[in-house]
Amino acid sequence: MFCQNCGAENNDQAINCVKCNKPLKQAVAGPSTHEVTQQIPSHLVLAIVSLFFVWITAIPAIIYASRVSGLVLSGNIEEAKSASKKAKIWSWVGIGLGVAVIVLYIFIIIVGAVVSVNSPT
Ligand SMILES: [Zn+2]
Repeated sequence: MFCQNCGAENNDQAINCVKCNKPLKQAVAGPSTHEVTQQIPSHLVLAIVSLFFVWITAIPAIIYASRVSGLVLSGNIEEAKSASKKAKIWSWVGIGLGVAVIVLYIFIIIVGAVVSVNSPT
């Protein structure tokens, strides 16, 4: 590591700088609790995206997603994680259902087109 005061190179285990004798600050520190709590995703964007597929499942997804940040701020980390998970599940259920319906719809159109081409007029 390098001294933050004079820039001299020091041993990683050194407490004070070999050149200027100033205490060396340990730059490598674990993430604070605040940073950890900020990492709980709300999945709000995903929930909003799912709204374009199936709005019925998007409603609980958005409700859970909107609760996440409030729960994090009030310190209910476990509840925030739970809400985050539920928001993600509801979002993907909605997107999954929406994609399934779109695929089925395209399939019906293709089958309908093939049948009409093959059938004598
Ligand atoms: Zn120094």
